Amino acid sequence: MGNRRTKFIKDSVIAYDNRHHSTLYFNISKYNESVQTGKSRYDKFAEARQYASDIKNHVISALPEYLEQFEENIKARGAEVLWARDSSEALGHIEKVLLENSAHLVVKSKSMISEEIRFNEHCQKLGIEALETDLGEFIVQTDGQKPYHILTPAMHKSKEDVADLFHRKFGTPADSSPADIAAYVRNFLREKFIHADVGVTGANFLVADTGSICLTENEGNGLMTISFPRIHIVLAGIERVIPSIRHIPFFWQWLGVHGTGQNISAYNTLISGPRQPGEIDGPEKMVVILLDNGRSEVYNDPDVREALKCIRCGACLNACPVYQHIGGYTYGSTYTGPIGSVLTPFLSGFKEFGHLSEASTLCGRCSDVCPVKIPLHDLLLLNRQRNVAQHGSGLLWRAGMKAFVFTFGKRERVDLFNGKFKRRLARIAGNPLGKGKHTPRFADRSFSRNWKLQNL
Ligand code: SF4
Repeated sequence: MGNRRTKFIKDSVIAYDNRHHSTLYFNISKYNESVQTGKSRYDKFAEARQYASDIKNHVISALPEYLEQFEENIKARGAEVLWARDSSEALGHIEKVLLENSAHLVVKSKSMISEEIRFNEHCQKLGIEALETDLGEFIVQTDGQKPYHILTPAMHKSKEDVADLFHRKFGTPADSSPADIAAYVRNFLREKFIHADVGVTGANFLVADTGSICLTENEGNGLMTISFPRIHIVLAGIERVIPSIRHIPFFWQWLGVHGTGQNISAYNTLISGPRQPGEIDGPEKMVVILLDNGRSEVYNDPDVREALKCIRCGACLNACPVYQHIGGYTYGSTYTGPIGSVLTPFLSGFKEFGHLSEASTLCGRCSDVCPVKIPLHDLLLLNRQRNVAQHGSGLLWRAGMKAFVFTFGKRERVDLFNGKFKRRLARIAGNPLGKGKHTPRFADRSFSRNWKLQNL
């Protein structure tokens, strides 16, 4: 726990990096404008939000049944369904498919879950190239980084940063515009799509009654990932299921509005199994891997179960004042921001990630913006309690808190020490507010003591 927590505190100094902050602020402010416009298109926004929440509540109340229904229906269309208890089981399934089919090149799209299981690193070990094809993911992969945000992976980069990166890595003009960069990547990836053996995607939704995978995206690369390679692997968390195809038009729009402010994303695809007899395109083989990796623990706990309602829109990250300052990388986890801080301890352990629940002011903005009404700040508070209950808070911390409560419990105790003593103590203790902030100078006499002296 200590190492990750210490690293978190160390990395959070990025909050004082003005350049980083202004790029982040600029990108989030653009997002806010679009999302506000998107939301204003709903005449009955509150009712729509309640509807989304109700559907998701219903799904998680009968999750096993809907998953079995999904499995049965997609298998009937010729897909193979494999269940994975954890990352290593998922990687084992994938490795088998890649090696059996002598794969050399894998193209990927829309798959934060592949980050969760460290898919790219595993492919590297196997000597297989795994290439991101979403523009944002391609940019961070090119820079040797991880996605910074669950929906906007390169949110921390300005257009100048990207032009400079491509100039260094690919020799494109240093003053390339975003359109030039997009054109370059389109050409570059087209070749890769043609030669890829396997396409890997996530799934925005798994539709139980038709046995379909839903993908929603803006670049068309998801469609190419499933159309060109012979094999399509879908990696999906078990919480992604939706009861019926009837719900999809609503959820596609709902996700679009909260993710980017669009009415609906540009490309929306339903995939119900591999290529069927008589069809002219689509993969020959389709493997769906349903990943648990700690989700059952969330499911089995009625207090936190609602966290499984998440549709990964990213709204809570953008609204969070802590995320807005420390950014995505400080969390040190695949899922960041409020939902990341709620889920990661269950997916990767409270021992390592329990401290993430402290990365919140508990202001409740995350809960207010969540399109499926997850009470995120309540869940963060619950995680804090669990973290302390499971791992304690450290002898030094407890002793310090006791001393704090005793001293600050009575004004007279604080006033026992004069300003000079407090200043000296602060110097010894180091800056309690952290690097980048200035501790105010303690006055020679406190306000209450001055008040008393003047009113004697
Ligand atoms: S918790 Fe809610 S706001 Fe946050 S990503 Fe999930 S659905 Fe969006």
